[in-house]
Amino acid sequence: MPGVFIKTYGCQMNERDSEAVAAQLVAKGYTLAPSEAEADVILLNTCSVRDFAEQKAIGKMQNIAADVRKNRPDVVLGFLGCMAQSRGQELIDKLPDVDLVLGTQKFHHAADYLDAILAGRRKKIVDVALEQGSEATIREHLLNGNAQKSVTAFVSIMQGCNQYCTFCIVPYTRGEERSRTIPDIVAECRQLVAQGVKEITLLGQIVTSYGKRANFSRAGSPLPADGGASVPASRLVGSLAPPNDSGAHGVTRPTLQRSPFVQLLDAVHEIEGLERIRFTAPHPKGYGGDLIEAYARLPKLVESAHLPVQSGSDRVLKLMHRGYTRRRFLDLVEKLRQVRPDIGITTDIIVGFPGETEDDFEQTLSLAREVRFDNAYIFKYSPRRDTPAAAMPGQVPQKIREERNHRLLETVNEIGKRKYDAFVGRQTQILVEGPSRKNSTRLAGRTRCNKIVVFDGSDRHRGQLMDVKITRAGSFTLYGDPAILE
Ligand code: SAM
Repeated sequence: MPGVFIKTYGCQMNERDSEAVAAQLVAKGYTLAPSEAEADVILLNTCSVRDFAEQKAIGKMQNIAADVRKNRPDVVLGFLGCMAQSRGQELIDKLPDVDLVLGTQKFHHAADYLDAILAGRRKKIVDVALEQGSEATIREHLLNGNAQKSVTAFVSIMQGCNQYCTFCIVPYTRGEERSRTIPDIVAECRQLVAQGVKEITLLGQIVTSYGKRANFSRAGSPLPADGGASVPASRLVGSLAPPNDSGAHGVTRPTLQRSPFVQLLDAVHEIEGLERIRFTAPHPKGYGGDLIEAYARLPKLVESAHLPVQSGSDRVLKLMHRGYTRRRFLDLVEKLRQVRPDIGITTDIIVGFPGETEDDFEQTLSLAREVRFDNAYIFKYSPRRDTPAAAMPGQVPQKIREERNHRLLETVNEIGKRKYDAFVGRQTQILVEGPSRKNSTRLAGRTRCNKIVVFDGSDRHRGQLMDVKITRAGSFTLYGDPAILE
């Protein structure tokens, strides 16, 4: 059977999509090729968030095409995912060696299309149409294909994004928000746990918007029998979202409805054998009191939050259309730390957004110092087609974007180092995931607050929750003492 090699660019959503495509192909009899050189089908699953990511994938395909067309003309070449969605036919016009262009709502057709191309029934296929119900099709996992079973798994709970941040291409590449039903997601999680998975990360572009769109109620019966349990308002620590526990005339309601996302967390939390729940990515404005309260209430929900802040300047946040202020973001961090003092907080920040002045940037630096993020992903602003920010006045020169990126990185690394150093000497719980990526003779696990710990252990520790003593901190990695293992 044909061997397929998939290379993935971009976020965890893309990783998950690639895994689902690979699992789909394996189920149809394809094998997974260890490298491009040994593959009959080469697929690049692409990212469009920044121009750099697009150029990397295009350059890679040019190189592959030049090589395989010379020596192995029958190899099938394809683009999948976000760039395939936004560029469509244009990719084949530019790179005529490409046979398949498959958009973000079409991953589940990959096997049928490849069969047709390999059998010579079809020559070129471009499918980037919208497809109703496609949000529920990213469900196959590769667990059984692995020699070693996975301890962690990602579960896609929704597709699309309705935020329309002015810098972001995602609403155009991923489409409108569409959520799977709670029973459907829980069934997938249960199956994973039955296969040995201990930790599940719920995935979506904006998970805090889960179930908020009209299609949700029509999609089955996602709400629990009580229509969404409620919690006493007195137990809430507060909310970044506009308060909804007091009425328009100041009449205080005694309870707060749980959002569909918190209902989903509740339902997944009940799965026996599941040890840990994570999610990514939330939107800071989606943190209602019910979600903060969930951190206090649900022990399997780990103390870790990726909160993309993007900027520390209110003026820039407004231009970005983020829907919160610096103050509200800082309040959210404070509330999360009140509920879970050890919470690990990471973020995304864009530098050089159009119109960003030195003063705006200084405010981002000061926010980073004030929050003391455990880590931050810093992006130089990249103009994206069809997004409002690309046409905004005051585009920041590349040299300044680079200089701000460098300064912010220095600050973030310095704070990160201090935070990691503070773990040395402490005992902490890790979930052992498997061999360390950098040194396969050692094992790696993750703390609840999402820090990687490398240690000398044996394969029997895989999948175990264990306490290790931290002996050393490296660059965004901790090292544990094997002496206290048993
Ligand atoms: N869910 C996230 C949020 O709340 O905005 C968005 C995920 S996005 C795919 C990952 C990160 O890429 C964003 O948080 C943002 O920092 C960065 N990003 C998005 N568009 C960008 C652009 N045009 N230029 C530079 N960075 C960008």
